[in-house]
Amino acid sequence: MHARVIFLKRLSKNYWLLQLTKPEGLNFKAGQYISLKVHPDGHRRSYSLSDPPSSSHMNLLADVSPMGLGSKYILSLHPGSLVDFIGPLGKFIKTSDGLFLAGGSGIAPFLSMRAGPILWSLHRKSEVFDTGLNPLIFYTRDFLTQYLKSIQDLKNYHIYLCGSRPYVSGMTKLLISLGVISTQLHAEKFV
Ligand SMILES: Cc1cc2nc3c(=O)[nH]c(=O)nc-3n(C[C@H](O)[C@H](O)[C@H](O)COP(=O)(O)OP(=O)(O)OC[C@H]3O[C@@H](n4cnc5c(N)ncnc54)[C@H](O)[C@@H]3O)c2cc1C
Repeated sequence: MHARVIFLKRLSKNYWLLQLTKPEGLNFKAGQYISLKVHPDGHRRSYSLSDPPSSSHMNLLADVSPMGLGSKYILSLHPGSLVDFIGPLGKFIKTSDGLFLAGGSGIAPFLSMRAGPILWSLHRKSEVFDTGLNPLIFYTRDFLTQYLKSIQDLKNYHIYLCGSRPYVSGMTKLLISLGVISTQLHAEKFV
């Protein structure tokens, strides 16, 4: 499938919003992603759709700090560029209310879901941008751990986790150490 770039906008130090046209007939569920062709050799990178399915366009939220093929491709785009993609893909769908834990760009599917409350882990203040929602922002793991420990009924929540592989693995271990069981956890790893 193809889409055209409407605009590319810098949101903070490493975060960019890429807005694409939405091909007619394309329907997605909040939490799904598309796979972009980022190199003529056929290399692909996945990006979650970050606006609600009812939107007339497709928004992607890209963290370009890895600066690999995907990041460089996104930064090379300009209004009118044609983007080759496959999708929508994925099964990271919200099936219940709960607690939403995002590492960095892992907030993207939660924005599409209009989910809340979101606990958002970022490395630096320079990475923050206005999400249109109201996430609780954490810069250190210690503060996040203290916050999670303060939730009395954590065992009763469905917990949705999204971010890099180390983030999801680290948070899974932490949550299990706090008494959460695996059936409460729903995770998407940005590998
Ligand atoms: C289902 C799915 C959905 C995704 N959705 C998004 C999204 O909405 N927004 C988004 O920005 N990314 C998303 N990703 C990740 C994205 O596909 C790329 O992998 C990522 O942006 C890095 O691409 P790159 O080509 O620039 O770097 P790569 O060439 O893949 O990596 C360059 C270097 O950076 C490291 N690296 C890669 N990713 C990270 C990271 N997150 N943190 C730290 N180091 C890293 C790699 O190990 C490597 O050493 C998603 C991934 C998956 C699987």
